[in-house]
Amino acid sequence: MLAAMPPTPPTSPEPGEPLVRDRGDACPGALRLHPADDGRLARLRLPAGVLTERQAEVLADAALRLGDGQVSVTSRGNAELRGLGEGCGAELAELLAGAGLLPSAAHERIRNIVASPAAGLDGLGHADVQLWARELDALLCAQEWTTSLSGRFLFVLDDGRGDVAGLGGDVTLIAEPGGGALLYVGGAAYRVAAADAPRAALAAADAFLRAARDSGAWRVRELPDGGAPDLAAALARADVAAEPVPVPPPLPQGAPPALGELGERGLYVLAPLGRLTSAQLRALAATGPVRFTPWRGVVVTGAGAERLPTLAAYGLITSPDSPWVGVGACTGRPGCAKSLADVRADALRTARASAGTAGLLPVYFSGCERRCGHPQGTWADVVATGEDDYLVNGVPVPRTSLPEAVATARTTR
Ligand code: SF4
Repeated sequence: MLAAMPPTPPTSPEPGEPLVRDRGDACPGALRLHPADDGRLARLRLPAGVLTERQAEVLADAALRLGDGQVSVTSRGNAELRGLGEGCGAELAELLAGAGLLPSAAHERIRNIVASPAAGLDGLGHADVQLWARELDALLCAQEWTTSLSGRFLFVLDDGRGDVAGLGGDVTLIAEPGGGALLYVGGAAYRVAAADAPRAALAAADAFLRAARDSGAWRVRELPDGGAPDLAAALARADVAAEPVPVPPPLPQGAPPALGELGERGLYVLAPLGRLTSAQLRALAATGPVRFTPWRGVVVTGAGAERLPTLAAYGLITSPDSPWVGVGACTGRPGCAKSLADVRADALRTARASAGTAGLLPVYFSGCERRCGHPQGTWADVVATGEDDYLVNGVPVPRTSLPEAVATARTTR
């Protein structure tokens, strides 16, 4: 059940005018397909990474019929379809809308909400932030002015376990024990009631857009010095009672859930290199809704340990001992024209040669120095500099020596 809508939602002071100067936000969406070397790419925002069983089925079907048969899990827990044909945009939009995956065409790219993916399943955390995500999404889609946010602006909702708080949100909420929440924006923090948390996040977005009016910043960190958002004023406009926190605690840098069982009726598994086949997605959603995670994994609901062998048989990563754990890669060749190498194939070879992954740092393979989708925190950095040449943590390494160099980098950085 969603909480009541805010009595006085923050609004643009000049209705009808975008708050942020348009500087050509070309971020892909489900309606704005991006031309890539392997066809069109659609990025579908999934607030809190959630797909119902039916939505998963529709997405799996769309990937098979219109794309390359796979669904990628992004570093924000969103979904991407690749290899789409030139003329399939309208059919894709109809399929997604019919499954409730496009509640507002105008807002489809700004519904960027990451939430603790195990919230409500394993008894940890101080609030069910999955419910916050639904409420915040409804609030975002109910306001016209929110369409001025860029497709990169990110809300992060952490249930207090600290797993997602450090993922670089523009607006971050952390649940506290006793029914409170901390709201972080830039270097400032406010304490609000948990029941007000989604409205506080919306107010923070309003404060950001007003602060970004002149600079056209897309993210809070892009605001010029001295141009911090006026959170206090925005919270007051939204009738959210808030108390400033003079010395905000540092954001926790938590970890993903452990692979395997999650509470009594939940599981956590990984998609190899973040990509699911349609068959894998169907298998994951066979027992209940799924949640894509920002670590390119999937939380399964409605199933316990008895389901793990089946998911493993589909090629999903279910054990922390798998050599795939912690291995990631960007699109690389042939999907990305900028890529200097087939980094996914090289990541595959490197993972296969791994003796084990326990205690190792994550490793991320990038086809060029942009490092799209790289993990947060500390990781071993593998960047192609040519078809047969890489930099591993900045040190030149020939492709043939990647397994040894990566093994060392995952223990030393
Ligand atoms: S890191 Fe470079 S090669 Fe990889 S997807 Fe991004 S632009 Fe393409």
